[in-house]
Amino acid sequence: MQLQLLWELQEIDLSIKGLQTKIEEAPWLSGVPDAREYLESLEKDYSEKENRLKSERKELKQMEFEEQSIFDTSKELKDNMYGGKVSNVKELEQMQRKLDLLAEDKKKLEEKMINLMESIEALEEELNELAEKISRTREDLAGKEKQLEEEITALNQEIAQLQSQREELAGKIDQKYLEKYLMLAEKYQGKALARVVNDICGGCRVFISSAHRGHLYNPSSMVYCENCGRLLVKLD
Ligand SMILES: [Zn+2]
Repeated sequence: MQLQLLWELQEIDLSIKGLQTKIEEAPWLSGVPDAREYLESLEKDYSEKENRLKSERKELKQMEFEEQSIFDTSKELKDNMYGGKVSNVKELEQMQRKLDLLAEDKKKLEEKMINLMESIEALEEELNELAEKISRTREDLAGKEKQLEEEITALNQEIAQLQSQREELAGKIDQKYLEKYLMLAEKYQGKALARVVNDICGGCRVFISSAHRGHLYNPSSMVYCENCGRLLVKLD
């Protein structure tokens, strides 16, 4: 009777152990770490592109100032040239050359500005797409986290139930059996007891000698497997 109860206790303990392993593995199986990592990479990408956008916008603003300054300088030159103040031909020629150079600078600058504007537009589009992806990934992650939490709560509830069953059961078992069980359980990864089926030890699959077998029918004796050392139990 005691051995039978001890066997039931072992079954409960193994179930609890199995559930605890499930709790440990649940985060990795849930996909939460992967989703989190993916989200982080998206957010990093987003902030890098955002910084690039900021600096390109700043650069564009500077170019606009530069463009304005070219415009102002050209206007001043033209006013001087055609205002009638300068009549020296050589000086006029020099001013014209300056004006031509400024026009060239302006053209080059405008090309750069167009390229920059295109780049800014592309970045803005990429950022919009990334923002959508980030929000979708956040939703996905939140869903996975919720699922994981529910799973772990359910597993913990199951464990709590088993633990109360275990307490009740342990109360019916003699201390010396319990102590022996705990000692052996530690040694055999929780499998302190082995069932005897067809005269074979369920722990190590070795045949039990007939001399040894006789003791199994005495309910008060503790019989150990000669091969593996587990406590043998013969269930009806
Ligand atoms: Zn054995």
